[in-house]
Amino acid sequence: MTIAKRLNVVKQRIECAAEQAQRSSESIKLIAVSKTKSVDMMMQAWHAGQYHFAESYVQEALVKQKALAHVPLCWHFVGPIQSNKTAAIANRFSWVHSVDRLKIARRLSEQRSLQFPPLNICLQINISREETKHGISPDDIPSMIEQIEQLPRLRLRGLMFIPKRTGNVARQREIFKQASDLFNSYQSASMDTLSMGMSSDLEAAILEGATMVRVGTALFGPRE
Ligand SMILES: *Cc1c(COP(=O)(O)O)cnc(C)c1O
Repeated sequence: MTIAKRLNVVKQRIECAAEQAQRSSESIKLIAVSKTKSVDMMMQAWHAGQYHFAESYVQEALVKQKALAHVPLCWHFVGPIQSNKTAAIANRFSWVHSVDRLKIARRLSEQRSLQFPPLNICLQINISREETKHGISPDDIPSMIEQIEQLPRLRLRGLMFIPKRTGNVARQREIFKQASDLFNSYQSASMDTLSMGMSSDLEAAILEGATMVRVGTALFGPRE
């Protein structure tokens, strides 16, 4: 299947889930996760109308950005953030979904160039407190929000979740529901983004209120 066709299939899945949730599909942004995939595949998606792309590895993203410098894309960063990479992340992306430490947030704010608008960020939350060490514990969210709102070059847009796959739709929805409840309990004027749902579970995420779904495999095929 061509990438244009895959993109249509994913858009139809989003439409159906939105309809089932009685939401407008315009309230859900599709982020194409292009990590490990070629610039050529990204261009195919772009020609088919895709505008938002996400990467997880800084080095790989910088190479692609150079190759795609002539193409107006919106770049999102969704990978783990090392402190020696924050300058590149702060200035080469419009969105960072994976902020999970105050130290990193401070560096991103200090390093974001004044020639750009404030960097849009989401806090990555570890909702099930499971294996991964990435993500803020739900208990620490209030103090993180308070401190991040002081940082002048960041704009706190919302929360990001990567829950573990359950292989069970009802259970998956339950976890997304917890995420959504948490998000709603903190919602402020600038927090308009609930980033959750991937190739295998985007419907469940949309039914529970996701406003951004991050989709890789369903658009570009399995990764090596
Ligand atoms: C790779 C990745 C995705 C995409 O996952 P798929 O299952 O391939 O759709 C989404 N979010 C993050 C943070 C990722 O690293």
